[in-house]
Amino acid sequence: MMDKLTSKMAIELEDKHGAHNYHPLPVVLSKGKGAKVWDVEGKEYFDFLSAYSAVNQGHCHPKIVKAMTDQANTLTLTSRAFYSDALGVYEKYVTEYFGYDKILPMNTGAEGDETALKLCRRWAYDVKGVPANEAKIIVCSDNFHGRTITVISMSTDPDSKASFGPYTPGFVVIPYNDLDALGKALEDPNVAGFLVEPIQGEAGVVVPEEGYLSKAYAMCKEKNVLFIADEVQTGIARTGKLLACDHENVRPDMLILGKAISGGVYPVSAVLADDEIMLTIKPGQHGSTFGGNPVAAKVATAALEVVKEEGLSDRAEKLGKIFRDQMKKIDSEMVELVRGKGLLNAVVIKPKNGKTAMDVCLKMAENGVLAKPTHDHIIRFAPPLVISEEELMEACKRIEDSILSF
Ligand code: PLP
Repeated sequence: MMDKLTSKMAIELEDKHGAHNYHPLPVVLSKGKGAKVWDVEGKEYFDFLSAYSAVNQGHCHPKIVKAMTDQANTLTLTSRAFYSDALGVYEKYVTEYFGYDKILPMNTGAEGDETALKLCRRWAYDVKGVPANEAKIIVCSDNFHGRTITVISMSTDPDSKASFGPYTPGFVVIPYNDLDALGKALEDPNVAGFLVEPIQGEAGVVVPEEGYLSKAYAMCKEKNVLFIADEVQTGIARTGKLLACDHENVRPDMLILGKAISGGVYPVSAVLADDEIMLTIKPGQHGSTFGGNPVAAKVATAALEVVKEEGLSDRAEKLGKIFRDQMKKIDSEMVELVRGKGLLNAVVIKPKNGKTAMDVCLKMAENGVLAKPTHDHIIRFAPPLVISEEELMEACKRIEDSILSF
């Protein structure tokens, strides 16, 4: 029998038997509840990453877990070869919730993006009248939409992209937050869509100028181009509204959701659109064995109910302001910039005495707050939205102490 697993043992196991495609902090978690997680030695932390904004509803939310276990004990997977008594009910709920005619259910965020790209191309040929194989989709530099070959073909990040070619063609990359560049790219009549993150999460919580989304949307409309929002990270109350696009009253033609649509309990993603777009894909032309399975349907419904029942958008808005205020008050030259919306925030760290954002994260972990650098000098702070004000203030104090320790 194996000895009781220590952090050191768990890390060694992953190192030896798993691919080295991540660089985690040396913390081995074994339990979560609400805004907190515990490691195998029992040390308690505030989780300020929320699995990249998947756990907005808090770890192991009882309502979501119950929905999952009830359904798991009844029927887990039918494939889409048959109907299930869960999928249609979920589809009605989620389309009414976000205000679209239809949903196409998938599992991961990257699959959601892939699905939206396919729908966009098909719409270009069937509805817009773009000549066969000529459709183009505009994307932004520093985007992050996932890890598949087509998705990394849109990327400008060398780590994500280099040495994975040949790449999928058909993408036009423009700078983010640049309406002039968008205007020029939209001159091409073969452009079918503009895919954009309302806030670039992985790029370091880059918030575009106010008005960028609404103007970009209007420009797309003028050229009969689909405005496609990737809200995999920004959606589901994270930024203080149900969707980040809601801050500018933009209703995307296609909406991609993932992560928190399941409360981080199960891989669920979705593309939402109206019939003119969604019905261009016919039976047999796209799908996924697990997409829309009964467990996913029940989990996502429960997770979305929790967002409304617990007023998570308003909580994110209110607590986000408090968080940014607290960060701005930290009296250290290491705090170069604080930015974000709702509870999706970042602190740009200016290295001091050779100490970088990674060192700050390691110190914070020691002090019981988990966050991760994105790029070398930015720390993203995204706690579960169920965090209490008292917990948030305690965590802010620990973050401050960690930064001031350098
Ligand atoms: N799109 C955005 C905006 C994301 O932030 C992510 C993940 O971080 C993805 C897509 C990919 O999601 P997944 O890792 O579930 O494939």
